[in-house]
Amino acid sequence: MPTTVTVTGTGTPLYTPGRAGPGVLVRSGEVSLQFDAGQATRLRMSESGFDISDLTALFITHHHSDHMLGLADVLTTRWMEIHQATVPRLRVYAPDGMAAEIADRVMDAWHDEVAMRVAHADYKNRDPLPDVHRFTATSAVEMVATFGNVVVESTLVEHSPVTPAVGYRITTAEAVVAVSGDTRVCEGLETLCRDADVAVCEVIRPQGLIGILSDPEKIAAYHADIGQLGAMAARAGVGHLLLTHLIPPPKTQADKQAFVDDIRAAGFDGDLTVADDLDGVTLGS
Ligand SMILES: [Zn+2]
Ligand SMILES: [Zn+2]
Repeated sequence: MPTTVTVTGTGTPLYTPGRAGPGVLVRSGEVSLQFDAGQATRLRMSESGFDISDLTALFITHHHSDHMLGLADVLTTRWMEIHQATVPRLRVYAPDGMAAEIADRVMDAWHDEVAMRVAHADYKNRDPLPDVHRFTATSAVEMVATFGNVVVESTLVEHSPVTPAVGYRITTAEAVVAVSGDTRVCEGLETLCRDADVAVCEVIRPQGLIGILSDPEKIAAYHADIGQLGAMAARAGVGHLLLTHLIPPPKTQADKQAFVDDIRAAGFDGDLTVADDLDGVTLGS
């Protein structure tokens, strides 16, 4: 059974045509795990042909809005689409702190609307609330959850002042997949990426922000500088680097090539994708 990695969104907090908010779907056999739920994540999951009833769990990297705005959408539409079956609440894993608080409260505003639907139709599932699993993030790589032979580990990354922010490392029978979340290049990210078959990493090209942002240094300080990222991926032995959360979002082929050129110049010579939404990788057979 192959492991598939699908980028459900390559965007940033601000909408860019064609780029949904950040998210990655990792599937292995019966296990389907979504990492982050940004703007339009649910739409992209649908467009990829994914059946929401197959979603095993959802993991949050940090509480920035672009990584959580789609959570209520995922929860609500999952509930509505499979309401004739009795299924457990969706497990949502989040680092203890604001992300877990938001996940706990994300459906509060919809309480009365949910009650109205339940009264109107024969809903076998009582509500779309998440089953929130909080975990304490540390600077060590620690196991967060297991699903059969799929193991999800996590560690703190550096996205200050947004703390805690974590990345994930998913080990299946076929592959190791790293998901950076949002972070500058740091020891935690490199540990997650060590010998990973696929690393889905956020990236910033500071040189591409000149004239676009008034304060590019502030943004660049808590994202993954492209030169440092390419060097890190080479050191860590990453097999396939998938660039996402692209800052600034490339609009032309030349824009995308600039990301490629910078990563290559930094010494990474593995497989490389400057991802568009729904790009992905299949590992194993
Ligand atoms: Zn962020
Ligand atoms: Zn972000």
